[in-house]
Amino acid sequence: MAKRQFKAESKRLLEMMINSIYSQKEIFLRELISNASDAIDKIYYKALTDESLTFQQDQYYIKVTADKENRTLTISDTGIGMTKEELENNLGIIAKSGSLAFKSENEMKDGQEIIGQFGVGFYSAFMVADVVTVITKALGSDEAFKWESKGADGYTIKTCEKDHVGTDIIIKVKENTEEETYDEYLEEHRLSSIIKKYSDFIRYPVKMDITEQKHKEGTENEYEEVTEEQVVNSMVPIWRKNKSELTDEDYENFYKEKHYGFDKPLKHIHISVDGAVRYQSILYIPEQMPYDYYSKEFEKGLELYSNGVLIMEKCADLVPDYFSFVKGMVDSEDLSLNISREMLQHDRQLKLIAKNIKKKIKSQLLSLLKDDREKYEKFYNAFGRQLKYGVYSDFGSNKDLLQDLLMFYSSTEKKLVTIDEYVSRMPEEQKYIYYASGESNERIEKLPQTERLTDKGYEILYFTDEVDEFAIKMLMNYNDKEFKSVASGDLGIEEEAEQNQAETEQKNNEAMFMYMKDVLKGQVKDIKVSTRLKRHPVCLSTDGEVSIEMEKILKSMPD
Ligand code: ADP
Ligand code: MG
Repeated sequence: MAKRQFKAESKRLLEMMINSIYSQKEIFLRELISNASDAIDKIYYKALTDESLTFQQDQYYIKVTADKENRTLTISDTGIGMTKEELENNLGIIAKSGSLAFKSENEMKDGQEIIGQFGVGFYSAFMVADVVTVITKALGSDEAFKWESKGADGYTIKTCEKDHVGTDIIIKVKENTEEETYDEYLEEHRLSSIIKKYSDFIRYPVKMDITEQKHKEGTENEYEEVTEEQVVNSMVPIWRKNKSELTDEDYENFYKEKHYGFDKPLKHIHISVDGAVRYQSILYIPEQMPYDYYSKEFEKGLELYSNGVLIMEKCADLVPDYFSFVKGMVDSEDLSLNISREMLQHDRQLKLIAKNIKKKIKSQLLSLLKDDREKYEKFYNAFGRQLKYGVYSDFGSNKDLLQDLLMFYSSTEKKLVTIDEYVSRMPEEQKYIYYASGESNERIEKLPQTERLTDKGYEILYFTDEVDEFAIKMLMNYNDKEFKSVASGDLGIEEEAEQNQAETEQKNNEAMFMYMKDVLKGQVKDIKVSTRLKRHPVCLSTDGEVSIEMEKILKSMPD
């Protein structure tokens, strides 16, 4: 039996597609500029292989012009243009990508930057257009053509005049409706900010005529309107530049420009990886905690670019929660995008990148700790709690990654110390890493439970953050040294003679203890003679997993 072809109601399909795949209308400009950039890339590529062609960088640009009176927006490029046949194929067949075909015909693989692949981006123009007109002249052709469409009704192609090789896309911008505004796509500033947002790193200049109030020369307070052609995009992304060319100031400016924060970053991390997935990234450790950091409103994530084009503003999957304070961006040419290019098809590459980034952040924090303790402490005071949550969450699976980044106040050093520092100072006979929990360092200092340890010269870590003890319970030990609360029944320092004496005392005073237990019925489990007190008559201790401090926290939590 002969196979029959599917038929599609192309009119409906186009409408459905245009209105459902993109989350924001403004994306249309990103799509058209990406196409223009691809068209220039193709000439560039041809010039590489065809000696009769030369590629002079300054002849290649994209120009965006708004005409408010006629309600038209024009995106012109000096790219490769389209023949009549190409117009029919590429703009007449939905989901046909001339760019994808170009890549495979020319066996382009690595390092090529052509963006198009799905053959749908162009139609996004109909989100804001009543009519789209394409005037184009292909490289090596004398004829120019005009393609025109109102969207659903199909298109026409006629011959026309055009001086230079290249393409003009003319959008007749829709009238405002009650629900939607379209006027904004004729406003210079709105347009230039959309270009900056999505297409800042398109490799060719995106120009616009920008009108500004300028100080009139020779006058004091007189201004005049001056219209000048300006390049709107920065073209070369800072992350593609060589680290050695960049100064701290360049990185700080980028941080500001991108509005990552109002502070000055404590540290930047510039990564360029050429491995299983290729990517570049610039990350920042902020100095200050964002005001909403510990609130529900805070959204973690890094900017995600695919080949210099912004895909996602906050890609949460790129950073784990415990590093959620990290700001910055990732650009990769190896992402498999979904059709709207707002999401990813597979997250395999993303997972690899995220894993890699996680390790880099850790190693950079460690080197900050080593090289600039003051800065590290500043960082730790702002974000240390997040690291401790990180140790505690996911059943402690991140403890190896995070334990060396933790710091606690030390009873002997009177400052923040790392666990590693603590352990390296431990006297040989000391069995445990001791810690004491309490509301503040001052209060902990006065705890009777710390007396014996302090007398023995042992260092105690002070836990004043609610999460501290929970995190340590997940760590369990560090370099085979177990953590021990000063409040636990057995501190591991009691000597045999002392133990024996305590047992005797216990027996001799059995009656008194019975009486005391009776008085405190239901409030204590046991009362014992203690060997660890010096200046205080009594202290509380626990023998279970949950300490008194933890119990307080657990009790205060809503069910
Ligand atoms: P994609 O860019 O994913 O291929 P589009 O729908 O954006 O899909 O564009 C379809 C095709 O139309 C492109 O692949 C390209 O061949 C052609 N095209 C679109 N815009 C231009 C342009 N400005 N210059 C030359 N060709 C273009
Ligand atoms: Mg495209």
